[in-house]
Amino acid sequence: MQERGTPLPTRPVHCRVCTILIGKGYEERRPIPLTNGRGYICWQCYASIRRQTARRAADRQDQDAAIR
Ligand SMILES: [Zn+2]
Repeated sequence: MQERGTPLPTRPVHCRVCTILIGKGYEERRPIPLTNGRGYICWQCYASIRRQTARRAADRQDQDAAIR
């Protein structure tokens, strides 16, 4: 069964963060396209980046609260 909607690369790609191969037959099968079109990352790195982004947003809110 093929998923539709997200265009996936036909060849295995390297994760831009940890450089593992992502593709059919590899440990990571589904690459996450970076929003800026700079390539793909694996789910592990995607989750890690999501956590960092959330933490940074929380820090920024703390700073805003301190200024006010
Ligand atoms: Zn990775």
